[in-house]
Amino acid sequence: MYRRQSASLDDDVINTSTFTAFTITEREQVSPTAFVITLRPSAWVIPQGLESGRVGEDGEPAGFLSKRIRDAWRHGLWSVEIKQPQLQIARHYTPLPPLPISADSPSMEGKSTLESGHVNEAKAIRTEKAGRITEDRDEQADLRILVRRMDGGEMSNYLSRQRVGDTLWLRGPHLGFDVFRRLGDRSTDGGGTEIGDVGGQRGVVFLAGGTGIAPALQIAHKLLDDKECSESGESRPHISILWANRWGADTLGREQIPSPRSKSGGWFRFWGRQGTNNPSADLQEKRKQPGEELASSLALQIQDLKRRHPSHFKISYFVDEERLFIKAHDVEAALASTNSSSLSAGRESSSSSFSIDRNCIWHSQKAVEFLPDDNDASRSSSPDPTCACTCTPKVGLGTTVARPGVNLVCVSGPDGFIEAYAGAKRWHDGNEMQSAIRGLLGLIRKDKGKKAGEWLVLKM
Ligand SMILES: Cc1cc2nc3c(=O)[nH]c(=O)nc-3n(C[C@H](O)[C@H](O)[C@H](O)COP(=O)(O)OP(=O)(O)OC[C@H]3O[C@@H](n4cnc5c(N)ncnc54)[C@H](O)[C@@H]3O)c2cc1C
Repeated sequence: MYRRQSASLDDDVINTSTFTAFTITEREQVSPTAFVITLRPSAWVIPQGLESGRVGEDGEPAGFLSKRIRDAWRHGLWSVEIKQPQLQIARHYTPLPPLPISADSPSMEGKSTLESGHVNEAKAIRTEKAGRITEDRDEQADLRILVRRMDGGEMSNYLSRQRVGDTLWLRGPHLGFDVFRRLGDRSTDGGGTEIGDVGGQRGVVFLAGGTGIAPALQIAHKLLDDKECSESGESRPHISILWANRWGADTLGREQIPSPRSKSGGWFRFWGRQGTNNPSADLQEKRKQPGEELASSLALQIQDLKRRHPSHFKISYFVDEERLFIKAHDVEAALASTNSSSLSAGRESSSSSFSIDRNCIWHSQKAVEFLPDDNDASRSSSPDPTCACTCTPKVGLGTTVARPGVNLVCVSGPDGFIEAYAGAKRWHDGNEMQSAIRGLLGLIRKDKGKKAGEWLVLKM
């Protein structure tokens, strides 16, 4: 039943140089100006499903296999380019993390919609990664992208006109900053013995404007849900998102007063119920429940993160129309709470365990300012010695710090938002450099100095 054709020369469904066809399998209006489109490589779409308008329902597996996309989820931050074929323009978009699949979901193997060859392929990959539910889910999930329709915006208006069954052309994945590495992580002494739990004491404060929420959720997914780096209990990093939107309607996942008519369990009942193997179909069924709040998949996803990580994931909402803006004291409170949760875990703060080398492109703000792009993956694999971390453990603490790290403040959103909070990025020699930290974060840094703690600011 699966129509699976070779999508590119190396047989992956996506690559960074040529655009390949993806089909819109679902479209969800999440606010008056924003929508989520779900995409699957056209080579993996069941034509009958599209004709009947039932793509993603009836237990059809919601996904496809792609090594590049699986690796991108493991990296953490990534985007794809989408092309507007008439105008020949392309813009970047950031896939939202996959929707959680309940652990008791029936596995894909039992589904009659899979041809036996593909069952074997899926089985082989699952066997290789036995027990890693998150990775299985990531490598198979359809891509979901949150788009805001901009007044006069060519690409976003083009996307808003596309419907289920239409084809979009994608290129990527383009890997971004390596948040996991910059934060530092648990490591070994070379003999396999764990000697440090460095990542566990770190925190990320994320200032997101509008659709800038997507990379914030990618980071949460990587640090809290990825089996490869998420630790149990207090050792996980703490993530605090300050999410600014123009309109109240865009504050997805914000706490609401439960409607008296809603049944017990509210939104969370969706995640706890016996699921199919298709999160989209689960969601559609959930929405059909009479008398309950109508919540978007993204609102549910944010609520679910809060529920599963109550002491490690925090999101605060700021709304222009309610005159609720992100102010210095909000940022300082987020920095302080992230820092104090690190300290309450009984460990030293990041700055006291090693010395940041001014020239370290991974941990020094000065060095980061001159980076030509956010492509940390290429820096990681580069043999160039200037691409290595040059920070050193402080004397006497050498055995506790295997891979240095630093707390992060990330800023993502429209150009004006980034400029207001962290200062504009700067074009130099055809590259968009991070440039100096100005704006509100620059002021906080000036005012508080060391008291604000050591934070590396990344503009996205
Ligand atoms: C790495 C990366 C990831 C991105 N991820 C997403 C994403 O997941 N979802 C998404 O909707 N956009 C995302 N964008 C922005 C996206 O690439 C486009 O710029 C956006 O859709 C507007 O394109 P356009 O052609 O419609 O508007 P344009 O004609 O290019 O611009 C119209 C106006 O809108 C402003 N603008 C551009 N983007 C935004 C925005 N996101 N919010 C508010 N104002 C904006 C521009 O400054 C300009 O004034 C991302 C950009 C980058 C660089």
